[in-house]
Amino acid sequence: MISFLDLAKVNNRFRSEIDARFARILDKGWYLQGEENESFSKHFAEYCGTKYAVGVANGLDALNLIIRAHGFGTGDEIIVPSNTYIATILAISENGCTPVLVEPDIHTYNIDPDKIEAAITPKTKAIMVVHLYGQAVQMQKVWEIAGKHGLKVFEDCAQAHGALYQGIRVGNLSDAGAFSFYPGKNLGCMGDGGAVTTNDEKLYQKIKALANYGSDRKYHHIYKGTNSRLDELQAAVLDVKLPHLDADNARRREIATYYRKNITNPKIILPETYSEDAAVWHVFAVRTEERDRFQQYLTDNSVQTIIHYPTPPHKQDAYREWNNRSYPIAEEIHRTIISLPMSPVLTDDEVKQVTEIVNAYR
Ligand SMILES: *Cc1c(COP(=O)(O)O)cnc(C)c1O
Repeated sequence: MISFLDLAKVNNRFRSEIDARFARILDKGWYLQGEENESFSKHFAEYCGTKYAVGVANGLDALNLIIRAHGFGTGDEIIVPSNTYIATILAISENGCTPVLVEPDIHTYNIDPDKIEAAITPKTKAIMVVHLYGQAVQMQKVWEIAGKHGLKVFEDCAQAHGALYQGIRVGNLSDAGAFSFYPGKNLGCMGDGGAVTTNDEKLYQKIKALANYGSDRKYHHIYKGTNSRLDELQAAVLDVKLPHLDADNARRREIATYYRKNITNPKIILPETYSEDAAVWHVFAVRTEERDRFQQYLTDNSVQTIIHYPTPPHKQDAYREWNNRSYPIAEEIHRTIISLPMSPVLTDDEVKQVTEIVNAYR
């Protein structure tokens, strides 16, 4: 079986370094808000090119805290792509805000900037872009619209660590970026983890405090905060892996380039990119009619695939109130999409095999 993503293989590359860091933590007996978190936050901000990064408990919390720190709540509308992973939308709902779904471009799967303006109302407060499947959104138009209407711009970077737009890394393209370090992400830890990046010192201080019981110093609480911290073990894993992220992303790009050049089956629609460095290929999502038959064929030929995602957010039971709405592009994507194996530890031979098997599909 060619596995979709072999996480043991991914992380075992760093085994001795991770072992050493864990030993250091055990020796010190310090598990939260310590040296590892400080070191990783500093390195991650440097990597993204932002002034600040705050480690938090997971990606959903990162999104949630950004919205919360701005004081957005009931009656406020936030624009979000209709085909994103549910977490982006849940973070908006969790704050009592109304998610306003905007359709994506079917070729890149990213929010279509030309459709944003029609969704703006006097209640709109922010545009939450999602760099879906690892490809940076074309931000120029988003910035222009936000500037014209006085809106904040936030980024969901959970799938796009290291992706670039005009030479600038995601997380540094808006008022604040939310990252997830869920194990399967391009930069993943060994459990849950997340971060917020920003250049705004006040926002940074506020999110840092909100994530730690609203506390700016011990037993002094300036906000009704929450507990959302990146623990020392996870921060250590991330600090070990971060220096290898660019090489891993380069390998993903190499695989994507190979797939795009060599998959020639007319039944398979390949993903499009704006520029070579815009995408870090968190997943390589292709589209095809009779998707389930194609997936079964790949399984029968020992190629593991995953569907990101089988059901669009507005058709989920959690959003029953939207079930009768129609977002035809999102629906078309969810009906036809399927992700091929993609990871930095796939071998050339495996990539070639997947390509041959896909090309032999009739
Ligand atoms: C993974 C993911 C999240 C949520 O991250 P968690 O760490 O699992 O909470 C949010 N948005 C997108 C687009 C994701 O892929």
